[in-house]
Amino acid sequence: MSKCFYLPAYALFSQEHRTVDARYNPQAIESKWQAHWREIRLDRTPELKDGSRKFYALSMFPYPSGNLHMGHVRNYTITDVIARYKRMQGYAVLHPMGWDAFGLPAENAAIDRGIPPAKWTYQNIAQMREQLQRLGLSYDWEREITTCAPDYYKWTQWIFLQFLQAGLAYQKEAAVNWDPVDQTVLANEQVDAEGRSWRSGALVEKRMLKQWFFKITAYADQLLADLEKLSGWPERVRTMQENWIGQSVGAKVIFKTEAGDELAVFTTRPDTLWGATFMVMSPEHPLVDKLTTAEQLQAVRAYQAQAAARSEIERSAEDREKTGVWTGSYAINPVNQERIPIWIADYVLMGYGTGAIMAVPAHDQRDFEFARKFGLPIKRVVQPPEGSLSSTDRASGTESSELQAAWTGEGVMINSGPLDGIPVGKGPGQSVERAIAWLEAQGLGEKQINYRLRDWLISRQRYWGCPIPVIHCPQCGIVPVPEKDLPVLLPEDVELTGRGGSPLAQLEDWVKVKCPTCGTEARRETDTMDTFICSSWYFLRFSDARNDREIFRKDRVNAWLPVDQYVGGIEHAILHLLYSRFFTKVLRDRGLLDFDEPFSRLLTQGMVQGRTYYNPNKSGKDRWIPAALVKDPNDPRDPETGEPLQVIYATMSKSKGNGVDPEEVLAHYGADTARMFILFKAPPEKDLEWDDADVEGQFRFLNRVWRQVYEFVVRGGGTESWRGRVSELLPAKVEVGSLTKAEKDLRRAIHTAIKEVSEDLENDYQFNTAIAELMKLSNALGEAGIPDSPVYAEGIRTLVLLMAPFAPHIAEELWQALGGADSVHRQSWPSYDPAALVADTVTIVIQVNGKLRGSFEAPAEVTPEEQEQLALRSEAAQKYLEGATPKKVVVVPKKLVNFVL
Ligand SMILES: [Zn+2]
Repeated sequence: MSKCFYLPAYALFSQEHRTVDARYNPQAIESKWQAHWREIRLDRTPELKDGSRKFYALSMFPYPSGNLHMGHVRNYTITDVIARYKRMQGYAVLHPMGWDAFGLPAENAAIDRGIPPAKWTYQNIAQMREQLQRLGLSYDWEREITTCAPDYYKWTQWIFLQFLQAGLAYQKEAAVNWDPVDQTVLANEQVDAEGRSWRSGALVEKRMLKQWFFKITAYADQLLADLEKLSGWPERVRTMQENWIGQSVGAKVIFKTEAGDELAVFTTRPDTLWGATFMVMSPEHPLVDKLTTAEQLQAVRAYQAQAAARSEIERSAEDREKTGVWTGSYAINPVNQERIPIWIADYVLMGYGTGAIMAVPAHDQRDFEFARKFGLPIKRVVQPPEGSLSSTDRASGTESSELQAAWTGEGVMINSGPLDGIPVGKGPGQSVERAIAWLEAQGLGEKQINYRLRDWLISRQRYWGCPIPVIHCPQCGIVPVPEKDLPVLLPEDVELTGRGGSPLAQLEDWVKVKCPTCGTEARRETDTMDTFICSSWYFLRFSDARNDREIFRKDRVNAWLPVDQYVGGIEHAILHLLYSRFFTKVLRDRGLLDFDEPFSRLLTQGMVQGRTYYNPNKSGKDRWIPAALVKDPNDPRDPETGEPLQVIYATMSKSKGNGVDPEEVLAHYGADTARMFILFKAPPEKDLEWDDADVEGQFRFLNRVWRQVYEFVVRGGGTESWRGRVSELLPAKVEVGSLTKAEKDLRRAIHTAIKEVSEDLENDYQFNTAIAELMKLSNALGEAGIPDSPVYAEGIRTLVLLMAPFAPHIAEELWQALGGADSVHRQSWPSYDPAALVADTVTIVIQVNGKLRGSFEAPAEVTPEEQEQLALRSEAAQKYLEGATPKKVVVVPKKLVNFVL
């Protein structure tokens, strides 16, 4: 404390805050301010009053794995800057945090290490909460929620009952994805493109089980149509949702078999019906047995067995060689009465559409390949535009087996009876629309809209999840647990083995229960819910997190929602966001809230990448060399073999050993530097490469600002008149007329910084350029050479205010050192003075005979005549005109004077 300085007595904070040390010591000031902010409940959410402007800033809440990684730090820092900026702008801000706390890892930890899942989870939460607090994130911890806590999952169960009442929750026997390692059922979404479990990596098998589903398909049309309302979402995410919902418009057409059975097909190209030359059914189609003739029976059975052994993903791969078998039967094409053979092939899946298709080989590539392989007829019904086919194809006419590929482009309908001559397309008056109208008029088919979206399988045969609140009664069937009996508590005395289905099913005392309706001995449902259910409504609960009488007060949820800015990873672009939108719409239709969409704006932040070493001579996991084992980063070598290593940047992960632990950065540089680096290094939506030198750079910048303020305060201990009035030095109080040129220039730099930082924070959140503006302002202060001017004081004050959202601790410390009243985070965001931005002078270029000869400064309001006179008197003119009178003078006002000799 050798060089500390005491600030004016009227500052509201107690004495110890009003000192500034010569040296920036982040660890000391950060813990001090974090404790103080907690004490004064600085980040508590204000009550919304009539007329208050609200802002709800939300980061996707984490799974409590126990350790914060850099991806978290980036996500939460971004949201925190936005929340702090909005508070300074006068908004009532809701900025909460919670824990997505149910799920497999806790159960696996329990199995591996014998720690009860609840204990493991709550320990991790305590550890991560402490880490978040050390980052200086301005959360309202009074609204913290934990999805595995009974006061939260009571309402998750209550929502389940709402779905049940609405007919949106149902049970059905289903072929499900079975993970043989985790011994559980997975949703389709949890199986990757190679048919492996997203968590265990095991090859997923098929099993038939009775499962609970949520009927998300009932909302498919709304989920698709309302994407239009989400202009504040990245285009990419909207497209991903659109593709996931997968709407296709077409017609349902009934084909009759020769035996009289009906085979329904759905087609998006009903206009090509006249070109259908065979049909294909899924090997699992219920009519296969009936349609198979005695001669074909053996081949069909063999093919069915083969198909059953393949995964759906494998079966529908585009590039796979086509396989199939004829059933021996025929169908009648309803539009032209032609007899066409019925085949089975595994690329037609029972779970999609009707399990049967009409094949139009001339205009569908997959059908084309199939027809070519099995010698089936190919009949063209679209005449492509002139010049778009090879000469072979054109010469070979319409009954061609010589086509090189299916024609799927534009053209005109041919060989299609009532459609002949009509242009091909899906627009009004084009072939698809006309075909549907004709089919409907003839009674042969009808318009149909299909979705790729399936109902959501929500039951899990696992322990660490929210119990499904129903009872199975032998008399009454499925009976919902009465609301007064919620929550159905998850029993804690469970032995977890990790095998053999749900541990809950083994707890006889828990399972056996009297039916609430008739009193008969009944059994509890032993499945738990997919954890995606817990996270599909948590953002609603934050509006009224401590309510123990209802899920949330309607006025509160309507006042705070939708979330104004949601921030999270692109990996949640489909499922979490789609389910949350679905829940919002269902709860709206149950009368619980009044809005259609939960998240007005969405920011998907990029990944954090680390410096990654690999040995190109090794393969598999062994090729990654953890950074900790590399002795010399300038000449990285394999510690085992001494071979030189390659260096790339890759997303931080344990397997690559390229992670940077946030704890280490906090311990070394403090939270403010970590925040500044993360914000400065890349725009928020782009990937960020971790670079120690750049972290150091931000630390130096903060040190420099510290020094600037320190020197300012120390000098202020003398006689200068601004002392003690810093917090009052608003732009309006500066006597602009009396300012010197240096003062005017500095003032322009100050107000440019306010303008630019505000704009960067307003729309696209360009934090990196905002921080660059802070650096420019710091430079301008350093170079101005007027440390005793009130404008300099204004600049120092402004720099500290503008820094507050980015580096909250150092800003608070410096604000107090300046004698600022209250917390810096309760100050109004500065607004800029447009007059200060106007330059006093303009630079005029001088040319002689069109050649650049020099320039001079003129007053900004210079007239063309004055400009010519000033130019004539300038040094450059004196030198190059050498006393001669120009023949002609060209004046471009405020820019240029050209003397023609
Ligand atoms: Zn009963």
